[in-house]
Amino acid sequence: MADSRQRQFTNPEQPGYVGFANLPNQVHRKSVKRGFEFTLMVVGESGLGKSTLVNSLFLTDLYPDRVIPSALEKIKQTVRIDASTVEIEERGVKLRLTVVDTPGFGDSLNSADCFIPIIQYIDDQFERFLNDESGLNRRHITDNRVHCCFYFVNPSGHGLKPHDIAFMRAVHHKVNIVPVIAKADTLTKQEVFNLKRKILDQIDECGINIYSLPDCESDEDEDFKEQSKQLRSAVPFAVIGANTVIEVKSRKVRGRMYPWGVVEVENPEHCDFIKLRTMLITHMQDLQEVTQEIHYENYRAQKIEKGEPVKKPRGTLTQTDSDREKELRDKDAEIQRMQQMLAKMQAEMSQQKAVQNGDSKAQDVTV
Ligand code: GDP
Repeated sequence: MADSRQRQFTNPEQPGYVGFANLPNQVHRKSVKRGFEFTLMVVGESGLGKSTLVNSLFLTDLYPDRVIPSALEKIKQTVRIDASTVEIEERGVKLRLTVVDTPGFGDSLNSADCFIPIIQYIDDQFERFLNDESGLNRRHITDNRVHCCFYFVNPSGHGLKPHDIAFMRAVHHKVNIVPVIAKADTLTKQEVFNLKRKILDQIDECGINIYSLPDCESDEDEDFKEQSKQLRSAVPFAVIGANTVIEVKSRKVRGRMYPWGVVEVENPEHCDFIKLRTMLITHMQDLQEVTQEIHYENYRAQKIEKGEPVKKPRGTLTQTDSDREKELRDKDAEIQRMQQMLAKMQAEMSQQKAVQNGDSKAQDVTV
């Protein structure tokens, strides 16, 4: 049993392979050709290992010019929103990944202050999408909406702190929250187990909606069903991040070296890193669909409720590409028809003019 579990969640190939090359199975080929757009937000107290984890997840250095502020600067600083976009290509599949970091979260003395810019950012992306979608040029709308939010929980607290709960409650109807326990190497296996249970109980008691992995279809592959079951039972994912590659028994592994041994990021016996990455990669499309169908629709509904004008969207992301292409073809045909009508009218007018000119010339002659 332990063996099969390990096989399912070992790093799929050699180091340097993230695994999003299987995205074509999830999305229409055309969108793959254009590139797949995904936005991940990471939120949590500073120092919990957010940047390290993101770099480990996508094997890139998303923060090359990062400056860590001093404690004094942190007190003054409000939360900042840093969006970094990278294009990663794997076997011809392009992923345009935007990672939205929120440095300064939890640093300010009044933690509720730091929610505001984050909520504003999420809403701004909805608004932008809404405007683009109701506009004329809908062929290449960039989807910058936040599709997923990894919320980092401090491993040393005894469960969620009041500001964790307050933040999740403030955004759970706007974004797919995936809770993660940071720096899981600082906890024993039993502590991880207890903390996970505690967090899930608190989430339940406080009525927080976190992202729930979709149920499998009954005719789904048995391996896939098993994988989904294991991913579901790993929530909240207990993760470890590291940007160093260490040699262990002549194997090169991403890990953290301690006097007593090495913790391996990609070893499923050590933490849930691979499970978190598998969840993200295999559910990118579902995360986008939930964003579109639930969170974005919520946003639109709220605008309507407030009496703000909302144009009817002319086609949504859930439409298939062929639906969208048909709509565009119809529009093009309509434009062509109008151009033909215009040309016909112009021709008729110049014909009339010519006749009138001919008449007046004839009159000149008779006079
Ligand atoms: P951020 O402020 O949340 O982005 O945190 P950083 O990624 O900058 O990490 C802060 C510190 O924690 C750095 O010294 C990292 O090396 C260390 N760190 C990152 N991930 C882990 C982890 O999983 N376990 C442990 N023990 N330390 C970590």
